[in-house]
Amino acid sequence: MTDSVKYVLDEGDLPTSWYNIAADLPQPLPPVLHPGTKQPITPDDLAPLFPPALIMQEVSTEREIDIPDVVRDIYRQWRPTPLYRARRLEKALDTPAKLYYKYEGVSPTGSHKPNTAVPQAFYNMDAGIKKLSTETGAGQWGSSLAFAGALLGLEVLVYMVKVSFGHKPYRRAMMQAFGAQCLASPSDTTRSGRAILEKDPDCLGSLGIAISEAVEIAATRDDTMYALGSVLNHVLLHQTVIGIEAMKQLEQAGDDPDVIVGCTGGGSNFAGIAFPFIGEQLRGGRQRKILAVEPAACPTLTRGKLAYDFGDTAHLTPLVKMHTLGSTFVPPGFHAGGLRYHGMAPLVSHVVDLGLVEAVSRHQMGCFEAGVLCARTEGILPAPEANHAVRVAIDEALRCKEEGKSETILFNLCGHGHFDMSAYQAYFNGELEDLHYDEGELAMALAGLPSVTV
Ligand SMILES: *Cc1c(COP(=O)(O)O)cnc(C)c1O
Repeated sequence: MTDSVKYVLDEGDLPTSWYNIAADLPQPLPPVLHPGTKQPITPDDLAPLFPPALIMQEVSTEREIDIPDVVRDIYRQWRPTPLYRARRLEKALDTPAKLYYKYEGVSPTGSHKPNTAVPQAFYNMDAGIKKLSTETGAGQWGSSLAFAGALLGLEVLVYMVKVSFGHKPYRRAMMQAFGAQCLASPSDTTRSGRAILEKDPDCLGSLGIAISEAVEIAATRDDTMYALGSVLNHVLLHQTVIGIEAMKQLEQAGDDPDVIVGCTGGGSNFAGIAFPFIGEQLRGGRQRKILAVEPAACPTLTRGKLAYDFGDTAHLTPLVKMHTLGSTFVPPGFHAGGLRYHGMAPLVSHVVDLGLVEAVSRHQMGCFEAGVLCARTEGILPAPEANHAVRVAIDEALRCKEEGKSETILFNLCGHGHFDMSAYQAYFNGELEDLHYDEGELAMALAGLPSVTV
């Protein structure tokens, strides 16, 4: 079967546990700090926001964490996801490299996000929680949590960044179809939202503001907990089903990746594909080239500072050590909405800092070009976020061509772009350009980082 294009696993091959990279790290993560005292937090400090099982996962150093049966039963609806060999794309590039992609766009909401939405909803339901609050940017996370809430019987309240609330009516309708309530953020339903509206009634919102609102609601209501779609250790943990499956599928294909590529917004889909391979390397396995790709207009890993910072604008969240552009930094309005966060997952920041992962950035025009080539050869139109991974996978394949090497490249095609057609339309109409962030604004946001002595 040397000319296969698709590698599928049986339902029985669905992973039974998630992989926790904390077990294999040569140095542990720096502690998480309380936003008020700036001292290391205890699991109790997180109890108003998350159920006990998720807090345990957040601090666990156990290598394998069992996936509950209820979660596996729901995963089975679309997992294991297919791994494709991109033979037509290889041919178009005339490269000796072998290109593989793991396709997460087959999930009910079209991206990798349900991989964590389902377990988060499950552990909350199991702890007797009735309602979840969360934020969403472009709407992928909000619709994924809404989907999970519908299946597991939880109410879901989504604060959607106001500019996207206007621009993404279909994602909003999808949340409503799953029974969730979706509010434009900043809203007048929270203190943090009202404070911002008083200063600027026309504020278009940001992920940092929406997080403040969702956290405030959860912290002040007993029956409501908070759910986050990326960044946190337990979110990255849940996404490792992607890499664990990909390892089995590549084995089926008789191949082993030399290069692994993922795009990074908060870091979860990248961690999902890369961490199981990095873990193997940390336990004495072979070394691979692992690339995290971010937008050049929101360059958290390549231009941000590794420092303690807040996850939100109102500074209600704990302080974590991460690559950050400063919690007040607002990136220019490029179209990969899911990659516009000021921070990066502490675990992804840490593996970059340890030299296990290389961070690179790409401008949006080249990314759309790569996405369109993917559509015209593979028949899959990627989400604008995923285009960043497609771009660098193509660049690596072109490097192989130049160097005459037949390396094996694996990338994560973390979602389809069917809800992002207005971005593609703008691209085809010649309305897009490469955006540059304001250097002065970045310097100011970085100068405003909280001072911490740990
Ligand atoms: C949310 C999202 C991202 C960014 O989040 P990560 O945590 O970095 O994965 C990227 N791609 C898609 C399709 C998304 O929905």
